[in-house]
Amino acid sequence: MDERRLPITYAACPSCGADDGETLFEAPAQLIDLDQRFRFATCRQCGLVYLVDHVDAAAMGTLYDADYPLHRGPALWGPFARFVEDDNARVDAARVARVLSQTTLGPDDVVLDVGCGRPTFLEALRDRTGCRAIGIDAVSLPPDAAVAGIMTAQGVPPDWPQEVVEAAPFSVVTMWHALEHDPQPVATLAWLRDRMRLGGVAVIEVPDLEGATARWMGKRWPGWHTPRHASVFTVETLRAVVERAGWRVVAHERTGTLAPFVLVALGVLDAVGFRFGRHPAPLVFPVWALGMALTWPWLGRRTRAGMGLQTIVLRPE
Ligand SMILES: [Zn+2]
Repeated sequence: MDERRLPITYAACPSCGADDGETLFEAPAQLIDLDQRFRFATCRQCGLVYLVDHVDAAAMGTLYDADYPLHRGPALWGPFARFVEDDNARVDAARVARVLSQTTLGPDDVVLDVGCGRPTFLEALRDRTGCRAIGIDAVSLPPDAAVAGIMTAQGVPPDWPQEVVEAAPFSVVTMWHALEHDPQPVATLAWLRDRMRLGGVAVIEVPDLEGATARWMGKRWPGWHTPRHASVFTVETLRAVVERAGWRVVAHERTGTLAPFVLVALGVLDAVGFRFGRHPAPLVFPVWALGMALTWPWLGRRTRAGMGLQTIVLRPE
């Protein structure tokens, strides 16, 4: 095992700012081998569960390198790439549908996806509506992730890249599994709120700490994503953080666009020591597909509520 240690900074509560956390537990990193453990705490002031030991921003890239499957795209899965691509397209379609259930978009509208990863969602939304699409991600994406006509910028709030600043105001802002990574979610959300068009909307999906998969898996639950997730939200603490940033909640559901199965499968792979950077993903695919098929009624359908995902829809006014 190539054991490594990353430099750590101690963090206060990302929601209310209080330095009054009660230690919940400490856990090893997930989906990467590090020779250190990371503490989570519950804020005594606001109840948010948050990561205490943050990896320094300069070393953050290590957490999203070869071992991190989500930025590598379907090619990672070798002969099964086509199936993964189809599944990703279904997730993107669900995200497009969720946005278009709230608003209509056209060529005059700008959509910002924060934590865009490979910007296939923006591509699907642009193709469907003709909107202008821009993505921002904290880490640089592989060159093969580029999509023609979709601008992606690298940056970490509050240092917003110039491309993003100039693209405002936004008709839609989306964050698909991004807000929980942000060490300063209130500042990020407040900055975005001030740059929305009248009638604009934000759609945010994060894990739900009160979901069934979180109860089943304990510290192994991928919603911790140790040490990548700065906040691990309940329904209540997510609502508190967005309202603290001045947004108005118009809908809040305990479902997401991912199949809840992902929240079990990644945890099981982590537990058995599978590392995407070192072990061949195609070997895992048949087990993954079988597991998905066998648990479909409970974990396959993204419409099943309370399984570990939540989505909140916001208006700036
Ligand atoms: Zn707090």
